[in-house]
Amino acid sequence: MKYLLLLMVMLAGVWLWRSRRVEQRPPAPPQARQPARPDAMVSCRHCGVHLPASEAISDAQGHYCSVEHLRLQRDGQARLPRDEN
Ligand SMILES: [Zn+2]
Repeated sequence: MKYLLLLMVMLAGVWLWRSRRVEQRPPAPPQARQPARPDAMVSCRHCGVHLPASEAISDAQGHYCSVEHLRLQRDGQARLPRDEN
C-alpha cells in the first residue's frame, strides 16, 4: 500500500511537470500557424505544361514555361505544333 501511494505521488508530479511544460511553450509565430498558400497554376501558351505562376514567364498574352517558348510563341503564331493538326 505504501508503494501504491508513492506511485500515485510520482504520477501526479509527472503530470504537473508535463502540464506546466505545455503552458510555458511559446506560441507559434503567426506565419507558422497558417498553412502555406498554394501558388496559382498556369499553363504555358506554347506547350501547355502547367507550372506555378511564380515560376512562369508572363507577358500581356499569357504565361510561358521558359524564355524559349515565349520566343517561339512570338516568332511564329502560325507554326505552332497544335495548329498543324
Ligand atoms: Zn512551354
